[in-house]
Amino acid sequence: MKNFINEDKIFDLLEKAKRPSCHRAKNIIKKSLKLKGLSPSEVAVLLNSEDDVVLNSIFTAANQTKESIYGNRLVLFAPLYLSNRCVNNCLYCGFRQGAFNTKKRLLKVKEVQDETRALISQGHKRLLLVSAEDPAVNTDYLEEIIKAIYETKNGHGSIRRVNVNVAPMGVKDFKRLKNTGIGTYQLFQETYHRDTYNKLHPSGPKSDYLRRLYACDLAQSAGIDDVGIGTLFGLYNYKFEVLALLFHAMHLEDKYGVGPHTISVPRLEPAQGSDIATRPPYPVSDKGLKKIIAVLRLAVPYTGIILSTRENAGLRDELFYLGVSQISAGSKTVPGSYSSDKKAQGQFSISDERSLSEVIEELATRGFIPSFCTSCYRTGRTGEDFMDLAKPGDIKNFCQPNALLTFEEYLLDYNPKLAKKIKAFLSSEVRKIPDLKVRKLTSSKIESLTRGKRDLFF
Ligand code: SAM
Ligand code: SF4
Repeated sequence: MKNFINEDKIFDLLEKAKRPSCHRAKNIIKKSLKLKGLSPSEVAVLLNSEDDVVLNSIFTAANQTKESIYGNRLVLFAPLYLSNRCVNNCLYCGFRQGAFNTKKRLLKVKEVQDETRALISQGHKRLLLVSAEDPAVNTDYLEEIIKAIYETKNGHGSIRRVNVNVAPMGVKDFKRLKNTGIGTYQLFQETYHRDTYNKLHPSGPKSDYLRRLYACDLAQSAGIDDVGIGTLFGLYNYKFEVLALLFHAMHLEDKYGVGPHTISVPRLEPAQGSDIATRPPYPVSDKGLKKIIAVLRLAVPYTGIILSTRENAGLRDELFYLGVSQISAGSKTVPGSYSSDKKAQGQFSISDERSLSEVIEELATRGFIPSFCTSCYRTGRTGEDFMDLAKPGDIKNFCQPNALLTFEEYLLDYNPKLAKKIKAFLSSEVRKIPDLKVRKLTSSKIESLTRGKRDLFF
């Protein structure tokens, strides 16, 4: 396995784009509005732009790009932590070996079902399974619990898409994981800078940089065509990391005909027993995070960007306008804590502690449509098929009505009070569907939902 992240090339690109002129940056921003993405050298220019006028133009263009591809939808999900017993020693993480004394715990199948029921009762339809690298979280275990999650019902509700963020595995195991019906397989490189990576991961299987770098390749080879990448911002220079993410995306696109389905942008949060997490070696300011998200939105316009509850409510509300397309809400990072009131220390501190209903109310007030849609992956619109639809903008004919249908379902089953409050907003959103046939069909499907039908989608 060859390291396809060419560090010298990245440093060279950043050096050549040092102190760019406003004129050059503005031309690149203008070009980005064609929605064809940007080259690494163009991204380096935007990353090196510090002028406030240029930054504001980047933010405006990111907002415009988000609007034209994703409209005013934001997809919601919750992480479900399975285990905090870890064989690794990532120096920034609250789960690392010996980092803290909280009881180590691996959820049993019945406990996973309790957690699932608790999340369904809030209105969730999409879960992200997260686990420390625990040898007990093997393929047999994952098969059993994913089956149990999909079978769990609570009232009208159920989980319709399970995404997974667990340690890398071999192709044979990835094939078994695919057969459980997962959506996306996610894995963050944490830092693409190899020396930094080696220092921060002193022991355990995760100390192998290339094993991690090639995990998404193996998942793709096993037929998992929606993969998610990310880095943990704060560990190394963010400009380097954004360019490395871009090179990773290009590598996947070259090899498998489709880039990553999502990019996550976690920022280091305090974690018990970790000096690095409390005092990040390369702190990223709020302004820096805004720039990261906006530049990524312009660079890879059709790739989903995921924002977690690591960020506080006020900042998250601002970042929604810059290109984020998926967010977690109401998250807990202690295994078992949705269904019981365990006050144990989580993997890291959560900053946005609002409940799912509070986040949804805020989103609707701001004119966003919270979406629980899972229809693309359930109808086979994944990987290259998804991108083929997304690129000419056709995905809007599915996504906007599906977002409205899943939001309506949420309001009927979990938040009738809010439903009354935003009735006019929802009707006006239906009226905005451009295609008359789709608009009429959406209205009739909404009618069916109010009469008790569920899970209607295009
Ligand atoms: N254990 C697996 C792994 O490391 O890939 C899977 C999930 S791990 C629980 C999820 C992610 O949490 C990691 O990839 C890392 O980026 C992030 N993380 C770890 N410590 C963190 C911290 N102190 N602040 C914010 N995110 C953190
Ligand atoms: Fe374990 Fe993942 Fe935390 Fe590393 S980041 S210590 S692998 S849970």
